[in-house]
Amino acid sequence: MNKEGITVNQNSLCKGCVESVMVTEEVIQELVKEAEENPSVIVSDEVYLARLKTCESCPSLQYGTTCAHSGCIVRYRAKFKNKGCPLAGKPKWEKVG
Ligand code: SF4
Repeated sequence: MNKEGITVNQNSLCKGCVESVMVTEEVIQELVKEAEENPSVIVSDEVYLARLKTCESCPSLQYGTTCAHSGCIVRYRAKFKNKGCPLAGKPKWEKVG
């Protein structure tokens, strides 16, 4: 559990990464900060922003924060090279490298 009282599931990173889908800006910033602590696993700012732009215009984005398909906070998931958009058969953004 981090200092916000949120349990982060380090094994899955995404699905159910926090206990509630309704999260505050503060919690999202904390998650993003945690992701940025390991630069080797995260994408460039350019890729990150392009991914977020895609999510922002996607009808599957819930509450402005959460992907309906993965249950993940997109601002967190989009940071990682090894994650892609989970849309079955037609992902809107791909893994990097
Ligand atoms: S990850 Fe994919 S399906 Fe989910 S909100 Fe972003 S673009 Fe849409």
